[in-house]
Order: sequence, then C-alpha cells, then structure tokens
Amino acid sequence: MAHLRFKALDHIQSRSKVGFDIPAGKVSDYFGELAFGLKQMRVSLSSDSYEKVAAAIKQGKKIEIETAEAIASAVKTWAISKGVTHYTHWFQPLTGATAEKHDTFFNPQQGIEEFKGSELVQQEPDASMFPSGGIRSMFEARGYTAWDPSSPIFIMDTTLCIPTVFVAFTGESLDYKAPLLKSMDALDRAATRICKLFDRNVTHVTPYLGWEQEYFVVDKALFEARPDLVMANRTVFGHNPARGHQLDDHYFGRISPRMLEFIKEFEYEAHRLGIPVKTRHNEVAPSQFECAPMHEEANKSADHNQLLKDVMDRVASKHNLRILFHDKPFETLNGNSKHNNWSLSTDTGINLFQPSNSARENLQFLIFFICTIRAVYEHTDLLRASVATAGNDMRLGEQDAPPAIMSVFIGEQLSKVLENLQKNKDIKLDKGDNVYMKLGIDKIPEIILDNTDRNRTSPFAFTGNKFEFRAVGSSVNVSNPITVLNTIVADQLTEFYKTLNKDLDAGTERKIAIINLLREYVSNSKKILFEGDGHSKEWQTEAIKRKLSNTRDTARAMDAFISKKTVDVFKRMKVLSEMELQARHEIMLENYIMKIQIESRVMGDLGLNHILPIAVAYQNKLIQNAQGLQQLGIDNAEVIKTIKEVSKYASQLKADILKMIDARKIANKQESYREKAISYCDEVKGEYFDMIRYAVDKLELYVDNEDWPLVKYRELLFIR
Ligand code: ADP
Ligand code: MG
Repeated sequence: MAHLRFKALDHIQSRSKVGFDIPAGKVSDYFGELAFGLKQMRVSLSSDSYEKVAAAIKQGKKIEIETAEAIASAVKTWAISKGVTHYTHWFQPLTGATAEKHDTFFNPQQGIEEFKGSELVQQEPDASMFPSGGIRSMFEARGYTAWDPSSPIFIMDTTLCIPTVFVAFTGESLDYKAPLLKSMDALDRAATRICKLFDRNVTHVTPYLGWEQEYFVVDKALFEARPDLVMANRTVFGHNPARGHQLDDHYFGRISPRMLEFIKEFEYEAHRLGIPVKTRHNEVAPSQFECAPMHEEANKSADHNQLLKDVMDRVASKHNLRILFHDKPFETLNGNSKHNNWSLSTDTGINLFQPSNSARENLQFLIFFICTIRAVYEHTDLLRASVATAGNDMRLGEQDAPPAIMSVFIGEQLSKVLENLQKNKDIKLDKGDNVYMKLGIDKIPEIILDNTDRNRTSPFAFTGNKFEFRAVGSSVNVSNPITVLNTIVADQLTEFYKTLNKDLDAGTERKIAIINLLREYVSNSKKILFEGDGHSKEWQTEAIKRKLSNTRDTARAMDAFISKKTVDVFKRMKVLSEMELQARHEIMLENYIMKIQIESRVMGDLGLNHILPIAVAYQNKLIQNAQGLQQLGIDNAEVIKTIKEVSKYASQLKADILKMIDARKIANKQESYREKAISYCDEVKGEYFDMIRYAVDKLELYVDNEDWPLVKYRELLFIR
C-alpha cells in the first residue's frame, strides 16, 4: 500500500503539464454556441412559431404540438450541423446528480435522421432505479420526462441535451426541477399582484439566482490513491499540514499555472454552453477555488450549476485533476460553500430588493424586504432543513461558514429604517400627510455593498440589492433551497396581500394600511435579525433565549421538512403535496444514512487493513531497535516510550473500529428512516468518528514517513 502512495507521487512528478489555448477571438464570438435558447429560436423559427414559443415560456403555458414540431425540426438541423448524433432528455432526479438516456436521430429503417416534436416534448425513461421515496411503487410504476422550454437546450459531447422535469404518471414530482418551477410560479403570482399596486404594467416577477461555487482540486493520481476520496469524496483521516490557511496566502493569491490551464479550459467550455461564468479566484484554503457566474432566472441558473459541475469534472479529468465538491473534504480546513444570491425582478426591469430615492418605490421595496425577513422567521427550521446534508453538517458552524442557527443580517442602515418604522408607531398619520417623510423612508440611500458584506458568519444576509443565502453547501442541487425560499416568500406575500385588502375594505388609506402591516411584521419577526458574530458563544445563548433552533444534524433537521407548518405552506402554494414531501423526506434521510454508512465502512477498512498493519510493522521495527540499543548498553527509554504510544493508539484504533461496527449493526436494525438516521448520527458517527480519526492522525505523526500508506495532506493540498 505504501507503494501506492509513492507511485502516485512519482506519477505527478513525471506527468507533463496539460496545457490549453483558448481559440483566438473574443468570448462573445463563441458564447452560447452550444446552446439553443430563445435567441437561436428567433433566428431559426418562423416568426409565428417563435412568437408562440416565446409567449408560452413567458406565461408558462403548454406548447402546441405544431409549434413543437417546428422547434424539433429547427433544433435537429442546428444540432446536426454541429456534429450531433444523439439526443437525450436531461433531468435531475433526487440522487443529486443529473441523468440522461441517449437516443440517436438516425432512423435505420428509413436511413434518415429524424427528430419529432413529440420526442422533444416528452420521453419515458426506464427510471425505476431512481429514488422516489416509494411514490412510484405506491401509485404508478412509470414516470416521464417533459421538456422545460424556459431553460436552453444544449450540446454536450455530440449529444443534444433537452432540460426536462421528471414526474410520475400520477403527477407527483420525482426531481428537483418540477418543484422549483412551481415555486417560481407561485412567487410570480403572489409578487405580481403586489407590484400592480405600484405599477399596472408589471405582468411578471421572476426570482433570480447567482451562485458562487467553491471547490477543492487535487491531483488525479493522488485522489485515486486515497480510498476515502474515491468512496466518500472526503478525507476521513489526515493530520493537519504544517501550513493550512493560517497565512491567508492562498486567498485571492496568484492561481498556479497548472490550475490556470484547467480553469481556462472549463470556463471556455462553460461559455460555449452559454453559462455566464464571470469570476474566478483562489479561496481561503490551499487548493480551494471559487467560480461565480452572472445571475440568471433561478431555473436557468440552477440548471447551469448542475451543468457546470459536470463540465468541470470532465475538463479536470483531461488535466489529470479531480474536483472535490464535498462540503467539507478536509475536516481541519475551510469547507466548500455555495452562496446563493437571490433577488426578485419585474418584467419591467425593477429589482424589488433595490432601495431607491423614490419614496413610492421604497415602500414597494420595504414590502418585499420585510416579507422575506418574516418568511425566514416563520420557517427557520425549514430553511435549515433545505440545506441539510451529511457534509454540510460538518461545515456549518466551522471556520468561515455560518452556524446552523438561521438568522438574517440586514446591515446598520436598514436596521435603522426598521427601527424607525417601529418607533414611530404613535405618529398620527393623517390623510394627505407625507407619510414617507414622516417615517423617514422617503429616501433609503443606495447601500454600500462593502458595509453589508463584512459579516461572513450570517447564514442569510442582505447585500444591498439581493439576499445571500450562505448556509447552502457546495455539493447540493441548489433547486431545493431555492424552492423553499421561493415558496415561503410567496406564501408570505400572499398573506400580506390578503390582509392588506381586508384593511383597505375596512376603509384604511392604502399607504397607511401598508405601513401598519409592515410595522406589525417587523415587530413580530425581529427576533430573526442578528448583526453580530455568528460564531460567538453569546449568540448561541442568545439564540436559545430567542427560541431560534440550532439543529446540528441532518437526522433531526429533516423533521421540519414534514412538519404541519411545512406541509401547509407547500400545499397552499401548490408546490409539493404532503405525500411528495414525505417521499422527499425519506429520500434525504436515506441518503444521509448511506453517506454516514459509507464513511464508516471506509474508516473501518482503512483503519483495520491499511493503517493498523503498518503501525504494527513500525512498532516491530522499534522493538528491534530497542533491543539492539539494550544489547549495546545504550539507553533505550525514548524508543520504549514511542513503542508504548504507537501501541496505545493502534490498540485504541482497533477497539474503536470494532465497537463502531457493532454500533452500525444496531443502527441497521432501526425500523424507521428517522430512527436509523439518528442512530447513525449519534451512535456511529457521534461516538466513534472523532476517536478513530484521532488515533489514526496520531499514528501518522509517529510512523516512518516512508511506510505511511495514505497520501498526506501536504502532498494533496498544494497543486503545482
Ligand atoms: P461576493 O462578495 O459574495 O462575492 P458579489 O457582489 O461579487 O458577492 O456577487 C456575487 C454573485 O452575486 C455574482 O456572481 C452574481 O451571480 C450574484 N448577483 C449579483 N447581483 C444579483 C442579483 N440582483 N440577484 C441575484 N444574484 C445576484
Ligand atoms: Mg458571497
């Protein structure tokens, strides 16, 4: 085994660097050349077909079969001209990855290439192996995929990929995209009504999303020499390197030449696919990086995140690299996050989270701003559940990541605005008064971004013209947290609108009714506002006082996914039914159980079969040495001390692993997913992971470097 580590290290030394030259020209020359969206449809469809599809997308309506035929024919011609031979419905099952099944355009009977409208619109993958939480076995054995025309079709490796939703024949959603689209719809309905109070021209409101994807990169040969990376995508063992991120020298530092070649190539591929990747930089930990695109409609942005991760994986492989998207691949280093920047925009081009100098617009801004805060307050536990994964449990509360307590940061300026709003509750507001001026909301100056962005420990921060959901882990499909966010805000806006109308019916003047309602919302949700250090002990104590949960593990956090409150809000907004929520809950718990189980097995295997024999062999070497010294009459006390230490950790390691295996057996016997998840969380992971790791990491310090079987952190982490 030790050989494997050194072979891998030799391999990286002898490898010639893989370079990449971006073809000559500007990004705008090739941006989107592999995507077929509205822009390309306008060029290749008759104006009649184009108008129809554009309208259908805007209004979320069904596309007529004749229009589908026209699009299928155009997209086929376009694709074949680019060397495409196959097509696939591309969908996002609840495994967290993406799925596809390829069919060829070629019809062997007729000897021609064909692609029908019906093939574009719908397909029936044999998908019985995807997790459905029992939905399909309970109701209907088959599911189908249906085209989502609001996200561009694209070409990947000579295959035309058609973004689709994946649903059971009985209508239940089996993927991430369908609920996201429904939540966008719910938000559109709820928000547009409110916007119309201010501007009758608004007909649609769309949530926008801009994510920031963090990742680690390691050499492929080294990755393959670490069974834990291969199996669990994270290192379960590894002593801290002498240099971690204490020097802060990696953050925004110069990108190494080898990495740069890789980044250039995946960005080029991303641009060809129409993914608007914009920024790249080194992150906090060594070998950690981030890439972020321009924000887009939430649905398109979520697709682009899934697609980009795929592209990065493929390109990395060409460069003999592997990407770690795991939320916490190195327990002692900074984790990987995926900040989700979220905002709402009208089809008249107004960002509803942008404060302005117009008093009227500010009132509108305050409605959306305060309703979002209140929605988060009402559904803190659900938001926590929306980001819950085994990996993210390890990240939340650690360096540079927000804690597991959900709170909202709004910055000094807006805190003052809300305070004023509350304080002035006794101001008499008469008809004809300049209410805005009286309340001091006639002008909310543009927020200086720097002021709002300093507090990196806030899980949900207002950053000037958008909210930034920072508790999201890097490995997840962003659709889940964004679906939750859209849904709870849609529900809150709906409630606001209804209550407002009641007050208006009772004869209250509109501005005054709005302000009174907002004031009430601020008072009963201000407990969620927190501007301080999310890592401090004081905040933990304070959060308890405020009755804000601090749920550290997914096993328990997931309860909120099926609570009555959650079921009700999803039902009211018509996003997910109780049965769908139950199914998802089960799938996520199962996924959690499997992750911990795999990690536990890898630990057991590495500990017993790789580390222990090496430790014992090393111990024997030391024993010989001690005996030799003794024969020569030289003091061997130091050696004996080391023998004792090695022997202590080796026997501890073995004992703990055996006990952990027993704990797993007990966990496996638990009946419900919840009990099993809790058992894995507390009895397997909670009891043993840290102890086992501690023993191994200690042994790493003792055992001769030449004999140590696992690639060390210092070797993994500094990409040259
Ligand atoms: P950070 O300091 O966290 O890196 P930036 O201001 O650089 O924040 O923005 C990060 C990301 O926020 C951008 O890459 C973009 O995708 C997203 N973003 C910017 N404006 C908006 C918006 N109005 N709505 C949603 N996302 C946005
Ligand atoms: Mg950010």
